[in-house]
Amino acid sequence: MNVLAIGCHPDDLEINAGGTLAKCAKRGDKVTMCVLGNGSAGHKVYTKEEIAAIRLEEAKNSAAIIGAEYINLGVDDMFIRANYDLLVKRVSDVIRKCRPDFIITHGADEYMVDHSITHTIAFDATMAATVSHYPTDHPEYPVFDKFTPIFTAENTHAVNSFPEIFVDITDTIDTKVKMYECHKSQIEWLKVHDNIDTSENIKVFARARGLQCDTGYVEGFNVLKQAHHLPLKRYLPE
Ligand SMILES: [Zn+2]
Repeated sequence: MNVLAIGCHPDDLEINAGGTLAKCAKRGDKVTMCVLGNGSAGHKVYTKEEIAAIRLEEAKNSAAIIGAEYINLGVDDMFIRANYDLLVKRVSDVIRKCRPDFIITHGADEYMVDHSITHTIAFDATMAATVSHYPTDHPEYPVFDKFTPIFTAENTHAVNSFPEIFVDITDTIDTKVKMYECHKSQIEWLKVHDNIDTSENIKVFARARGLQCDTGYVEGFNVLKQAHHLPLKRYLPE
């Protein structure tokens, strides 16, 4: 299957769905990790340009661990909302290029607006990609011919969150952590900015869901409930 993961910042997909993406890659799916923001706000010392360049390399290294294609859409952090139309167009082009069987993205209930808007951009782009008169920078990609199921990852720190689909990532938790730890600049930054150790956090939350499912580590998802998008089968790995 073709899997398109759409994240806000360069490390979000690893935090929210890294174990599942690793499982998709393992079962032979073609995985594309598409990130809207360039990571330009993620440091105190480096300039915006310096940190964006560092984070591009970090994200590429992470994607390479599972053989995923990495695409960054290059908008400055904190300006996702301000670039809404531009990003719907760019994500629509990514959908036309990747032709996903399903999409994984943020939910609409996130702790920062850029994450929540990423959800809406992804949803909006699934319609735009099917509309032949919708503007494109890549006329070489054919108009997409279907709506895809959209699975939303749990919000940051699983606040008021209850997923309905569970993926056992016991066999890929180490890969998830390894992918996340490519984002060295963010391990530093989040300790300073948020006083958290995300390498630890991602294991804690996956372990808590694992206990609920009577296994080791689990990532949880919800399915977007909108016309045309409801899945007829299990798309996420077992
Ligand atoms: Zn983020």
